[in-house]
This record gives sequence, structure tokens and C-alpha cells, in this order.
Amino acid sequence: MATPRNQISRKKSSKGIKPDRPKRCLSCGTDLIKPSRRYCSKECRQQINWVLSLSKGLLRTFNARYASFSFTHDHVILDLIPVWSKGISRFICKRTPGKKPAEDLKNLILKSGREWYHMVDNNNSKSYASLFLLKKNHRRDIDPCDIKPNNKSRPRLSGYENKCLKVLKLDRKDLSSNEKTIRIKSAYKKMAKIHHPDMGGNSEKFRQLNEAHKQMLLWAENPQYTSRKALPYCWSYDGSTNRWAPPL
Ligand SMILES: [Zn+2]
Repeated sequence: MATPRNQISRKKSSKGIKPDRPKRCLSCGTDLIKPSRRYCSKECRQQINWVLSLSKGLLRTFNARYASFSFTHDHVILDLIPVWSKGISRFICKRTPGKKPAEDLKNLILKSGREWYHMVDNNNSKSYASLFLLKKNHRRDIDPCDIKPNNKSRPRLSGYENKCLKVLKLDRKDLSSNEKTIRIKSAYKKMAKIHHPDMGGNSEKFRQLNEAHKQMLLWAENPQYTSRKALPYCWSYDGSTNRWAPPL
């Protein structure tokens, strides 16, 4: 059976990420007017961060090694792998019309917390209550690799270098390649055919292109990368650091 997350990943991977597709707010999923932003508003960013930090109590109770949070149009989903297990337990609930995913996640956390306290109040041990809920929500059909964040390294660029990347119509992925210098040069050649004044191009644009080419070749001589643990399409939690990371 296809899980909501699988549906998301399949959709994204088959289409690829198109630059002209509207980017969505990482917190509420609405289309972003400014594509350089990751959230629709400061409040929206604060709200999801607040709810995710609220979830840490529950994740500690379940002794989570890894967890992920994602949402679709219909559901909010909290997956976790406890330290002692290789399997995934999925806490899922339907979205409430008109409410943001953060609010539904909060209710999901509170509901699961209440269920756990109810068992403890009825003379079950804390570890039994955790084990019971994890087993009840255990899902064999989900690949645990889905929620284990890989170490992803991304090129570290200044604001100007980011602009250069756009001028050359290069992708960040090109800069992670072993052939980055070749890719920068071939992107330059391709764009020079469009902007060279002898070919009917604009001289100002051609000047910018030359500058961008020079700058990116300099970057490639001594490339810098940042590495962080994250997942492509959902929030990820690492129990060893007790921290949530936004999607890549
Ligand atoms: Zn938002």
C-alpha cells in the first residue's frame, strides 16, 4: 500500500524539481510569493519550530533514535525509530480543514501523550506504555531508510556567488561534482553564445557573465561545503543531538 510520504516522494522524483514551480512554505505548505524564502511568515516559522520542540518530550519518551515529520493535503505524519528497534512506528492523523499542519501536529502529540499517561495511570510501567504504543503503531511496510537522514554536503556560497550561479544557469549540484570546473566552463560557453555582443547579445549581460565565470572558477579552486544531516522532503529529528532539521 502506498503511504502518504511515498506518494510525495514519487511525485517529486518523477517530475524533478522545476525552477518555475512555486516553492512552498516549509511550515504550512502554501505557495511562496518570494521563492528565496523558506517560510510564508516569521510567525509560521516560529509556530512549526515551537511544535517540533514540543514533540521532543514525546520522542524522548519513546527513546527515538530518528524521527521525521511530514504533511500532505490530508494528513500529518510523525514517524520514528526507537533506539532499540530497526522498525518504524507511524503516528498519523487527518488534517483539520482550515488548520495549519503545525496545529494538527500539536494535537497529534498531545493525543499520543494522553494515551501514554492514561496507560501509566492504569498501573502500567512507563517502558511498557512506550513499548505498547510503538508496537500498536508499528509499520512493516515503510522502509526505515526513509527517515534516517544522510549527511548531505552542500556548496557554501556567498550571496554574490549565488547570483553568479544564476547568471551561468548552473545548478548547485554541478558544484558538488568532481567535474565542477568543466561544468562551469561549459556553462560559460553555452551562455556566451547567447550573450556575446558579436552574436547579437547584450554587452552588459556579457560582462556579468564573464565576471560570474571568473568568480566561480575562483570558488572551484578552493571549494567550500557545509554538511548537515537532513532529508529531502520532510523534517528530520536526530536523537543523538535532540534536534530537528528542516527539509533540504
Ligand atoms: Zn507558512
